[in-house]
Amino acid sequence: MKLNKFTPLFLILILLRFSAFSQGITGKGYYQFPINPGQINYLSGNMSELRPNHFHAGLDIKTGGRQGLPIYAAADGYVSRIKASAWGYGNVVYITHLNGTTTVYAHLQSFNKELSQYMKSGQYAAKSFELELFPKPNELKVSKGDVIAYSGNSGSSGGPHLHFEIRDSRQHVLDPLVYGFDEIKDRTAPNVEKIALITLSPDARINGNFGRFEYPVSRVGNTYSIPRNISVKGQIGLEILAYDRLDGAANKNGVPYIEVLRDSALFIRTHINSFSFADTRMLLLHTNYPVSLSGPRYTRMYLMNGNGLPFYTFGGNHKGVIELAEDETSRFDIEFHDAYKNKSSLSFTLKGEKADTLLGTTNYSSGYDGRISLLEKTLVINSKSSRKITDSATVYSNGLIIKLAPAIVGTNKSTYLWDMRKGLPDSVKVDDQIEVLHFKATIPSTEIYQFNERNLTLNFRKNTLYDTLYLKTQQAFNEYNRQEEFTIHEESVPLNGNLEVIYTPLERIENQNKTHVYKIGSNGSKSFIGGTWVGDKIKFQIRNFGTFALAQDTIPPTIRPIMLNSTQVRFVIKDELSGLSSYEVKVNGEWLLMHYDYKQSLIWSDKKDDSPPLKGDLVLKVVDNAGNEKIYQTKL
Ligand SMILES: [Zn+2]
Repeated sequence: MKLNKFTPLFLILILLRFSAFSQGITGKGYYQFPINPGQINYLSGNMSELRPNHFHAGLDIKTGGRQGLPIYAAADGYVSRIKASAWGYGNVVYITHLNGTTTVYAHLQSFNKELSQYMKSGQYAAKSFELELFPKPNELKVSKGDVIAYSGNSGSSGGPHLHFEIRDSRQHVLDPLVYGFDEIKDRTAPNVEKIALITLSPDARINGNFGRFEYPVSRVGNTYSIPRNISVKGQIGLEILAYDRLDGAANKNGVPYIEVLRDSALFIRTHINSFSFADTRMLLLHTNYPVSLSGPRYTRMYLMNGNGLPFYTFGGNHKGVIELAEDETSRFDIEFHDAYKNKSSLSFTLKGEKADTLLGTTNYSSGYDGRISLLEKTLVINSKSSRKITDSATVYSNGLIIKLAPAIVGTNKSTYLWDMRKGLPDSVKVDDQIEVLHFKATIPSTEIYQFNERNLTLNFRKNTLYDTLYLKTQQAFNEYNRQEEFTIHEESVPLNGNLEVIYTPLERIENQNKTHVYKIGSNGSKSFIGGTWVGDKIKFQIRNFGTFALAQDTIPPTIRPIMLNSTQVRFVIKDELSGLSSYEVKVNGEWLLMHYDYKQSLIWSDKKDDSPPLKGDLVLKVVDNAGNEKIYQTKL
């Protein structure tokens, strides 16, 4: 056997990992701050921050609106991964260190000279701007403090900043703030804005009512309270709206550590200090996703079905579900910690309601005020006015006619409740009006399931859903958008994996190859989904439920030259409906590297350093997602 000359390095690596992690973490000072070292820096995001469909994986370090600031290697190591992309992290460098961790530097404007040349020769070899390479340990070594790149705004970045991560050897992200960088100051304790309580079982009530109720907090210093008498029965969930500010920045960051004590004993603790990218979409279960679609992101302090995140510690078998005995009183004390051990606390008391107090008595608004809505597994049917206890609603389900007594009689409305586990209601009669509900099937969350109706097939895989789905579908001509639209359930229910859809349009489509599926926004906007035609059916994948329609794109992209000379060419390229799919520049038949920034619709050339000036015939070809082509030709 030939001994690899790097074997000793691996041994050192293993030894270092043992010593490093047996002490908890590699101590303060192992990593240097990657930008403006030795100066006070400000953050616009931390690791536990809750983003629309993921947890933020690192620090967003402000660059004062500027780009081109030098980025330094945080510790000795080698570049193990490097990527250029118009999307996601944009231009990004990964450095693997001797202790087995990896640091990540994203949204870069450009790489240093050595890395630029390394990438550029790769890009010319692959004839692609979009490129990811995994250099070997001996190829691109770096020392702590080396300038590896320059800060920017590339990829899916909403403004110039450096996105910085520290990952362990399994590529799970760690909280960089626990490494104690002197460049970041935080003496500001977390801020608590509100809590919410939600009924989790059909028999549950909060002050006699059913639904989700938000409570503002009173504040004295960093001590918060809820100055309200709250009585509950049945299964109740607690939700929290809180954020952390760091010194010198107004940005609302996440709170990494929240601990709930019930009568002085641990009830539930969430500690966001490490996670895997495979789990990050479960944020949709960690937060109240339906509420977040039109409001802020509350953290659910109870476990939803399908939530496998490793953040939770429970003081019992309750999974965070609160239940109180009749006349029992429980005090809840919640502590909020940031990474710098600043603390806030919130206290409130719940009282167990008598089991026979059936009726709510006050005006109430639950946030589920639509006439008929689904709250988890309970269908909530509101009458338009208060009813008497003898006034029933009628549920028609699978050929059965069921009379429901009101569950709550309020002064301004009454509420009837239907447990969906008893069966799917076809329609409901309330206030002498019949409403058709469009529930079609109960889809299990852990089995393969095919749903079919006349021109729609849905293929659920084992991991498509997080929880049992009471599927609704609807097809109709939308008068306002003037098109046939089909709705697959509701945006507010998150999908875990892709769902395959096969749709047969009601009318024959003439121009199939230019016709694709688009998702229809609430304002009627169309975003490209795609799809493949098989005969008269189109097959496509969706990541979110919602409303869809077919649309035809026959208009090619547009090209506008901005700069044309012997050192560089620049163009603005755009497409109206389906969006850009590819672009390519050739000069005298030779492929020319073009960088792409979708935010500015801009492409610009980057010729090989030793290549002659750009001269001769230039051809730019741009193609959209519907296959429409535009060609621009000129002589340089
Ligand atoms: Zn970021």
